[in-house]
Amino acid sequence: MYPVDVDGFLVRPSQHATVIPKTMAKAFRDKEKEYKAPPDDRIYCRACSTFIAAKIDAAGRVKCNKCECQHCSKCGDKWFEMRGHVCRSRDEQDAFKGLEQGKDYQICPSQR
Ligand SMILES: [Zn+2]
Ligand SMILES: [Zn+2]
Repeated sequence: MYPVDVDGFLVRPSQHATVIPKTMAKAFRDKEKEYKAPPDDRIYCRACSTFIAAKIDAAGRVKCNKCECQHCSKCGDKWFEMRGHVCRSRDEQDAFKGLEQGKDYQICPSQR
C-alpha cells in the first residue's frame, strides 16, 4: 500500500490545473503527440534527440524546440538550408549508403 495522503502536500485536481504553467502543459501535449505517433513516424532531432513532431505526408521544415535544428516533416531527415532538401525514402537511404561505400572501391582513372 502506498500512502495516499501526505500531510500538507495534498493537492486537489481542481487546484492543480491552475498551477500547471502553460509551458508544462505544452510539454505534456508534446509528449502525448509523441506517444500517439507510430515509432516510425516520429521525427527526432538529429542533434539533440528531442521529439519534434509526427511525420506528415508533405515535405516542410519543422524546427526542434530545443536547439532550433531544422528537419523535414516528411522524412525526418535534417534540413539543410544551404543546399536545400530532397526527401529520401528508407530504401533510398540504404541505396545511398551503398553508393558511398562504392566510392571507396572505385579506382582512380589515372591509375589505369
Ligand atoms: Zn534539437
Ligand atoms: Zn525530407
